[in-house]
Amino acid sequence: MTAGKNAQSGFDLFERLSASDYEQIVVLQNRETGLRGFLVIHDTTLGPACGGVRIKSYASEQEALDDALRLSRAMTYKASLAGLPCGGGKTVLIEHAGLRREAAFESFGAYVESLQGRYFCARDVGITEPDLAALARGTRFVGRDPAPGLGDVSEHTAIGVCHSLRACLEEAGLRKEGRGRVRVAIQGVGSVGAWIARILAREGMDLLVADADEARASAVAREVRGKMLPASEILQAEADVVAPCALGGALNRETIPRLTCRVVCGCANNMLATPEDGDALAARNILYAPDFLANAGGLIRGVEYFMLGRADSLPSLASIYDRTREVFRVSKERGISTARAADQLAEARLKPRKTFRDLAWRSELHEVHNGPALTHKT
Ligand code: NAD
Repeated sequence: MTAGKNAQSGFDLFERLSASDYEQIVVLQNRETGLRGFLVIHDTTLGPACGGVRIKSYASEQEALDDALRLSRAMTYKASLAGLPCGGGKTVLIEHAGLRREAAFESFGAYVESLQGRYFCARDVGITEPDLAALARGTRFVGRDPAPGLGDVSEHTAIGVCHSLRACLEEAGLRKEGRGRVRVAIQGVGSVGAWIARILAREGMDLLVADADEARASAVAREVRGKMLPASEILQAEADVVAPCALGGALNRETIPRLTCRVVCGCANNMLATPEDGDALAARNILYAPDFLANAGGLIRGVEYFMLGRADSLPSLASIYDRTREVFRVSKERGISTARAADQLAEARLKPRKTFRDLAWRSELHEVHNGPALTHKT
């Protein structure tokens, strides 16, 4: 077999792994429980790989692996830019007819335990409390929520987004005296979006909200005294700020030309469909707060609580304001989009040429909430 494109699938795995220097892919398969999925560890040069576990049905195995690759890399960038002592990983589990859910999560937990802290996981899309409980029967290396003193991670994410938004409003001159109330259009008022709406309402902003679930949008609109819009209209609503807080890919070739806002800042992961969409926003003079910068609050809280034993993360969340300003400064200085500036700042903390020798991480950071500290080094 020759190196290069896989002629049959067009999925050039090794080229892709090499381009972003992925460390490890685990193909999860257990016949007894029906466990199927991928655990991807993107980078551990800053510390153990942190990243959630999601479960859903995928159109193909390739789509599932693709999701894990993309998301694990985003976790590395998020952790790096947030200055955290951890790297990025992600697990996607595949929902299918033969899955014995509880047993599969227990079996996956045992696998995570075998990695001895190289990967630390938490809840992501599709995971229920019983799933998390089953997982935790197999491993110490999982952030269980709710946990005493942890608080609501979604609220922490929202607080971080609002700090980033504060920097955006200043940069865009939208906080001038006598200018009137800032208007924010929020796409998706689920766990995080609803918290963002509450915080911004307290700060006296005008809110437009939409959700695919109209009952939810209507309840949040009532609570924050905002106006509900149809989900199909929210991105192009007349507002100073658009806050994508639903799914990834909201900003793309179709939606960006229709935006009328001056700022984009929200919590959705991977909100740009492609890296070029960051350039398209910049070309339209729309100030974009990179998603993995603005939405790092939940990760910051999780790492500080579970790994560093810190009771209060509010000061660290406030530093998202400073980092947003830093991204704007670098973007202007280098003449690049804010998306590319955030990537470059995140990459600056990573090793440009790592070898397997670089994957050792400092074990004293790994004291987890519900288990003893590790003493080994990989
Ligand atoms: P959630 O499922 O609680 O909320 C998402 C909401 O978006 C739901 O109410 C859903 O009905 C709505 N929605 C889906 N498609 C929509 C559409 N086309 N238009 C309008 N509304 C739509 O999820 P969440 O935890 O609030 O996370 C939201 C986003 O933030 C996700 O992209 C997630 O990956 C990202 N994120 C979440 C956290 C966290 O702490 N929960 C942290 C970082 C990033």
